[in-house]
Amino acid sequence: MIITEKAPAKLNLSLDTPLRYLDGLPQWDMVMISADLADYVTIEIGEHRGGVKVYTDSSFLPNDQRNLAFQAANILRNRFHHREAMTIRIKKHIPVAAGLGGGSSDAAAVLRALNRAWDLGLSLPELAKLSLSIDSDVPYCIYNKLAHVTGHGEQVELLPQPPHYWAVIAKQQISVSTPQILRQIDYTKVHHLNNKALIAALKKNDWLAATKYMGNVLEPITMQYHPEIGRLKEKMLQLGADMAQMSGTGPTVFAICHKESRAHRIQNGLRGFCRNVNVVTLL
Ligand code: ATP
Repeated sequence: MIITEKAPAKLNLSLDTPLRYLDGLPQWDMVMISADLADYVTIEIGEHRGGVKVYTDSSFLPNDQRNLAFQAANILRNRFHHREAMTIRIKKHIPVAAGLGGGSSDAAAVLRALNRAWDLGLSLPELAKLSLSIDSDVPYCIYNKLAHVTGHGEQVELLPQPPHYWAVIAKQQISVSTPQILRQIDYTKVHHLNNKALIAALKKNDWLAATKYMGNVLEPITMQYHPEIGRLKEKMLQLGADMAQMSGTGPTVFAICHKESRAHRIQNGLRGFCRNVNVVTLL
């Protein structure tokens, strides 16, 4: 049996962290959305016993248990005692280690695909609960819909479907280490966001008001190391973006626009400034 699942990138419309848990991990308070920039995960399940093999078209990615897709497959194999040989092929379109949740989305896609292939009957909340051990973004990626995400990432409250908006997603040639950025959070200095106001505006479908409350408290930390992220953001705003900010721990910066023509104008304006720029719709 062969099954293919789309794995979209996530964007943080807001990213805040009220405190650090005793386990050392941040408590999240985020509004997330997905964009139509996606990896494709194809799983071939054999009829005989065997192990899991992962292949990707990116030379940067591990093919063993360090690959989040591999970990996702093993969670369901072990829990439901499936031993069939399995080959997972991942076609990467989401830039790696970019703050776009590519690995998490691949893992979530594997969970959704195996749930269908093996007729496990797990609900999305059940899959989300099983997925948290992989990475804090995986529960959100099970849904890939506008949502308020809290706790360690396991509490996902879906929000109303957004209007038709465009995103310009720009990734500079910079490497950011997520653990390094998270270690640097100084909880006495975080300028917290008004996520309540953001969610209220989103629930009213008032995206114009909502853009005023979007933000990412990790921006100043990542920008300390990479000031060019701030310059890219400024450039997008000058080119007419409704908003522009960093996603996750960066380095990707995205802009959102209600007009497709504006999104393409931003993309054209970034020529010579940033090479990896995609214009896509929000999902
Ligand atoms: P995070 O903020 O969770 O670290 P990210 O969204 O910035 O993630 P990813 O593309 O998910 O970026 O990559 C993060 C790390 O996960 C990389 O070091 C990468 O080697 C590892 N990884 C494991 N599996 C995958 C996968 N299938 N796709 C991308 N990265 C993966």
